[in-house]
Amino acid sequence: MEIGETRIKTQGFSDQSEIFIFCSLIPKHVTGLAFAEFKTMLEIKEHISLKPFNTFGINVKARYFSEIMSCDEITQFIPTLEKDHQPLLFLGGGSNVLFTKDYPGTIIRIATRGIKILKEDSDYVFINAEAGEVWDEFVKYTVDRKWCGLENLSLIPGNVGAAPVQNIGAYGVELKDVFCELEAFDLVTFEKRKFSREECLFGYRESVFKHPGRNYLIMNVTFRLTKYPILHLDYGKIREELFTLQIQDPTIRDVREAVIRIRRKKLPDPVLIGNAGSFFKNPVITGEQLEQIRFEHSGIVHFPFNDEFKLSAAWLIEQCGWKNRRQGDVGTYSGQPLVLVNYGLATGKDILDFANQIRESVYEKFGINLETEVNIV
Ligand SMILES: Cc1cc2nc3c(=O)[nH]c(=O)nc-3n(C[C@H](O)[C@H](O)[C@H](O)COP(=O)(O)OP(=O)(O)OC[C@H]3O[C@@H](n4cnc5c(N)ncnc54)[C@H](O)[C@@H]3O)c2cc1C
Repeated sequence: MEIGETRIKTQGFSDQSEIFIFCSLIPKHVTGLAFAEFKTMLEIKEHISLKPFNTFGINVKARYFSEIMSCDEITQFIPTLEKDHQPLLFLGGGSNVLFTKDYPGTIIRIATRGIKILKEDSDYVFINAEAGEVWDEFVKYTVDRKWCGLENLSLIPGNVGAAPVQNIGAYGVELKDVFCELEAFDLVTFEKRKFSREECLFGYRESVFKHPGRNYLIMNVTFRLTKYPILHLDYGKIREELFTLQIQDPTIRDVREAVIRIRRKKLPDPVLIGNAGSFFKNPVITGEQLEQIRFEHSGIVHFPFNDEFKLSAAWLIEQCGWKNRRQGDVGTYSGQPLVLVNYGLATGKDILDFANQIRESVYEKFGINLETEVNIV
């Protein structure tokens, strides 16, 4: 051991399958900290089943697994991570990942909590939430206070920290529309830094954080919400649902309720049936490409998207005969073929094979390559 390094070991854990193994070499550049400052040591468990930590319900194991309750724990811990504990993967609610094999490194589940009002005036509120806050609880918190901006994103599973990763979107609103900034920990320089909206490079289910290599831990996110309602009612069936509820002059809370009702009818509840929402992104193509496809497939479902066109991936999949299909324990969800489901004992590889068959048939019929929205691990 070099001078300036500290070896820390803590006592064992009783359960045989969960051995507490924190034993780490702390490099010189962090040993300026007194030993007492490491009192919030992480519990790292070994060979942990990830089944409860992913909404597909895939039963693979993580070589090392830990849950963090404070960002200080993690920013002190990451620089100490030994080579054999790598690679590192952060997990929130596990609602946008498909595990296809045991994870060879360390999975860190972010369970940090906290909501703060940073600034407020007569028109706006700047609100900051820790990465481990449950997304829909956070949305409810803002709607209960009549702050507008997140209501169309109600009931999306997962946590606040993952929301910027794919710029979550639903019912005509994307996270970027209300995003102010976020604080992240750089895994290369071991420094905290802020990202503005421009720096996040948000796109359709995209951001700088979704790129391979993911060099940042998102620690907390700040949103700018309005104190006056600017409602987005024209997407999907929101107006229809409000009409059914006999609401003519909707409030922010009414919009949240309408979105929740639509989602409950349309999407499978991961508690009841394993899934990760839309498995594929809706493809975006140019006007010229659209014209070529329409020549043979005049009914193709499409929407204007910036200067291009977004196609309905669900429609493409359905046209290839995949609606309500099942192979073993994998299938397309009856109400929405874009959602792949695990009927119980499917492995991640079963789901990936099934997805690849869908992708191939869509390519053969339409010449379009479906991209996965779900992160394959
Ligand atoms: C039924 C259902 C409906 C859905 N509907 C929608 C929808 O309408 N719109 C939509 O956009 N998505 C939807 N999703 C997908 C998913 O809920 C979102 O992408 C959500 O933001 C994922 O959050 P999570 O905490 O579960 O992320 P996880 O699945 O835990 O992680 C997703 C990715 O983000 C990374 N990550 C997680 N936390 C952090 C962090 N703090 N810092 C850095 N990287 C991190 C992970 O490594 C992983 O690559 C749906 C999923 C389900 C199951």
